[in-house]
Amino acid sequence: MINKEGWLISAEKHFSPNFDQRPKNFEIKLIVIHNISLPPENFEPENVKKFFKNELDFKSHEFFQEIKNLKVSSHFLIDRTGKIYQFVSVFERAWHAGVSSFNNQENCNDFSLGIELIGSDNSSFEDNQYDSLENLIKILRNNFPKIKKENIVGHSEIAAGRKTDPGPFFDWSKIR
Ligand SMILES: [Zn+2]
Repeated sequence: MINKEGWLISAEKHFSPNFDQRPKNFEIKLIVIHNISLPPENFEPENVKKFFKNELDFKSHEFFQEIKNLKVSSHFLIDRTGKIYQFVSVFERAWHAGVSSFNNQENCNDFSLGIELIGSDNSSFEDNQYDSLENLIKILRNNFPKIKKENIVGHSEIAAGRKTDPGPFFDWSKIR
Protein backbone atom coordinates (compact mmCIF):
# COMPACT_ATOMS: atom_id res chain seq x y z
CA MET A 1 0.00 0.00 0.00
CA ILE A 2 1.09 3.54 -0.75
CA ASN A 3 0.13 6.27 1.70
CA LYS A 4 -1.25 9.61 0.66
CA GLU A 5 2.18 11.23 0.78
CA GLY A 6 3.38 8.73 -1.80
CA TRP A 7 5.37 6.34 0.39
CA LEU A 8 5.13 2.55 0.28
CA ILE A 9 4.08 1.50 3.78
CA SER A 10 6.23 -1.63 3.79
CA ALA A 11 9.44 -0.01 2.48
CA GLU A 12 12.34 1.14 4.64
CA LYS A 13 12.30 4.89 4.20
CA HIS A 14 15.37 6.99 3.50
CA PHE A 15 14.92 10.58 2.48
CA SER A 16 16.97 11.65 -0.52
CA PRO A 17 17.45 15.37 -1.13
CA ASN A 18 17.85 14.58 -4.84
CA PHE A 19 14.37 15.22 -6.16
CA ASP A 20 12.09 18.01 -7.27
CA GLN A 21 8.53 18.49 -8.43
CA ARG A 22 7.12 16.80 -11.45
CA PRO A 23 5.94 19.31 -14.06
CA LYS A 24 2.24 20.12 -13.77
CA ASN A 25 -0.16 17.78 -15.59
CA PHE A 26 2.40 15.02 -16.01
CA GLU A 27 0.82 11.70 -15.24
CA ILE A 28 2.87 8.77 -14.01
CA LYS A 29 2.83 6.20 -16.79
CA LEU A 30 6.24 4.56 -16.92
CA ILE A 31 8.39 2.32 -14.70
CA VAL A 32 12.13 2.29 -15.37
CA ILE A 33 14.18 -0.64 -14.10
CA HIS A 34 17.87 -0.21 -13.33
CA ASN A 35 20.74 -2.07 -11.73
CA ILE A 36 23.34 -0.54 -9.46
CA SER A 37 26.22 -1.67 -7.27
CA LEU A 38 28.80 0.49 -5.51
CA PRO A 39 31.62 0.00 -6.09
CA PRO A 40 30.70 -2.06 -9.16
CA GLU A 41 30.01 -5.72 -8.29
CA ASN A 42 29.73 -5.05 -4.55
CA PHE A 43 26.20 -6.20 -3.75
CA GLU A 44 25.86 -4.68 -0.28
CA PRO A 45 23.26 -1.90 -0.43
CA GLU A 46 24.93 0.41 2.10
CA ASN A 47 26.95 2.52 -0.35
CA VAL A 48 23.97 2.94 -2.68
CA LYS A 49 21.79 4.12 0.18
CA LYS A 50 24.46 6.66 1.11
CA PHE A 51 24.96 7.71 -2.51
CA PHE A 52 21.27 8.54 -2.97
CA LYS A 53 21.39 10.65 0.20
CA ASN A 54 24.64 12.44 -0.78
CA GLU A 55 26.32 10.80 2.20
CA LEU A 56 28.83 8.56 0.43
CA ASP A 57 32.44 9.04 1.51
CA PHE A 58 34.00 9.50 -1.92
CA LYS A 59 37.47 8.96 -0.49
CA SER A 60 36.62 5.45 0.70
CA HIS A 61 37.05 3.84 -2.74
CA GLU A 62 38.90 4.80 -5.90
CA PHE A 63 35.84 4.25 -8.12
CA PHE A 64 33.83 6.82 -6.20
CA GLN A 65 35.94 9.60 -7.75
CA GLU A 66 34.03 8.96 -10.97
CA ILE A 67 30.67 9.61 -9.38
CA LYS A 68 31.45 12.21 -6.78
CA ASN A 69 29.78 15.06 -8.63
CA LEU A 70 26.59 13.17 -9.37
CA LYS A 71 23.36 13.91 -7.57
CA VAL A 72 20.95 11.07 -8.24
CA SER A 73 18.17 9.09 -6.64
CA SER A 74 15.51 6.60 -7.46
CA HIS A 75 12.12 6.07 -5.93
CA PHE A 76 12.88 2.48 -4.94
CA LEU A 77 15.83 0.19 -4.34
CA ILE A 78 15.58 -3.59 -3.98
CA ASP A 79 18.54 -5.32 -2.33
CA ARG A 80 19.69 -8.90 -2.90
CA THR A 81 17.38 -10.26 -0.18
CA GLY A 82 14.36 -8.58 -1.76
CA LYS A 83 14.14 -5.83 0.83
CA ILE A 84 12.65 -2.62 -0.54
CA TYR A 85 13.90 0.87 0.30
CA GLN A 86 12.26 4.11 -0.79
CA PHE A 87 14.06 7.44 -1.19
CA VAL A 88 11.61 9.77 -2.92
CA SER A 89 7.80 10.01 -2.77
CA VAL A 90 6.18 8.62 -5.90
CA PHE A 91 4.52 12.00 -6.40
CA GLU A 92 7.90 13.75 -6.65
CA ARG A 93 10.40 13.53 -9.47
CA ALA A 94 13.42 11.36 -8.64
CA TRP A 95 16.61 11.75 -10.66
CA HIS A 96 17.28 8.31 -12.15
CA ALA A 97 16.75 8.36 -15.91
CA GLY A 98 18.93 11.26 -17.08
CA VAL A 99 18.80 12.15 -20.76
CA SER A 100 16.11 9.80 -22.02
CA SER A 101 13.08 9.37 -24.18
CA PHE A 102 10.10 7.02 -24.30
CA ASN A 103 7.72 6.96 -27.28
CA ASN A 104 9.24 10.26 -28.44
CA GLN A 105 8.63 11.90 -25.10
CA GLU A 106 11.82 13.28 -23.58
CA ASN A 107 12.92 13.51 -19.95
CA CYS A 108 11.44 10.32 -18.60
CA ASN A 109 11.98 11.45 -14.99
CA ASP A 110 8.95 13.72 -15.48
CA PHE A 111 6.49 10.86 -15.85
CA SER A 112 8.22 7.76 -14.50
CA LEU A 113 9.04 5.83 -11.37
CA GLY A 114 12.56 4.47 -10.96
CA ILE A 115 13.32 1.09 -9.43
CA GLU A 116 16.95 0.12 -8.83
CA LEU A 117 17.97 -3.48 -8.23
CA ILE A 118 21.24 -4.19 -6.50
CA GLY A 119 23.19 -6.06 -9.14
CA SER A 120 25.19 -5.58 -12.30
CA ASP A 121 25.25 -6.32 -16.02
CA ASN A 122 27.42 -9.36 -15.27
CA SER A 123 25.34 -11.56 -13.02
CA SER A 124 21.89 -12.95 -12.40
CA PHE A 125 19.42 -11.39 -10.03
CA GLU A 126 17.97 -13.21 -7.03
CA ASP A 127 14.52 -14.79 -6.95
CA ASN A 128 13.74 -12.67 -3.88
CA GLN A 129 14.41 -9.58 -5.98
CA TYR A 130 12.00 -10.67 -8.70
CA ASP A 131 9.34 -11.50 -6.09
CA SER A 132 9.61 -8.06 -4.51
CA LEU A 133 9.76 -6.35 -7.87
CA GLU A 134 6.65 -8.14 -9.10
CA ASN A 135 4.79 -7.16 -5.94
CA LEU A 136 5.95 -3.58 -6.12
CA ILE A 137 4.94 -3.28 -9.78
CA LYS A 138 1.50 -4.63 -8.93
CA ILE A 139 1.02 -2.00 -6.23
CA LEU A 140 2.28 0.79 -8.48
CA ARG A 141 0.05 -0.23 -11.38
CA ASN A 142 -2.96 -0.31 -9.06
CA ASN A 143 -2.18 3.25 -8.02
CA PHE A 144 -1.24 4.49 -11.48
CA PRO A 145 -3.35 2.70 -14.09
CA LYS A 146 -1.62 4.57 -16.94
CA ILE A 147 1.34 2.24 -16.37
CA LYS A 148 0.49 -0.35 -18.99
CA LYS A 149 2.46 -3.58 -19.22
CA GLU A 150 4.46 -2.25 -22.15
CA ASN A 151 5.33 0.84 -20.09
CA ILE A 152 7.71 -1.12 -17.89
CA VAL A 153 11.14 -0.71 -19.45
CA GLY A 154 14.83 -0.97 -18.78
CA HIS A 155 17.03 2.10 -18.48
CA SER A 156 18.83 0.86 -21.60
CA GLU A 157 15.60 1.14 -23.60
CA ILE A 158 15.05 4.82 -22.84
CA ALA A 159 18.71 5.87 -22.90
CA ALA A 160 20.04 3.68 -25.70
CA GLY A 161 23.74 4.00 -26.40
CA ARG A 162 24.28 5.62 -23.03
CA LYS A 163 23.00 3.06 -20.50
CA THR A 164 23.09 -0.74 -20.44
CA ASP A 165 21.17 -1.56 -17.26
CA PRO A 166 19.40 -3.63 -16.07
CA GLY A 167 21.60 -5.71 -18.39
CA PRO A 168 21.51 -9.06 -20.19
CA PHE A 169 20.96 -11.10 -17.03
CA PHE A 170 17.70 -9.39 -16.15
CA ASP A 171 14.92 -11.89 -16.90
CA TRP A 172 11.99 -9.95 -18.34
CA SER A 173 9.82 -13.04 -18.49
CA LYS A 174 9.59 -12.95 -14.69
CA ILE A 175 7.75 -9.64 -14.68
CA ARG A 176 6.09 -9.27 -18.07
ZN1 LIG B 1 20.09 3.05 -14.68
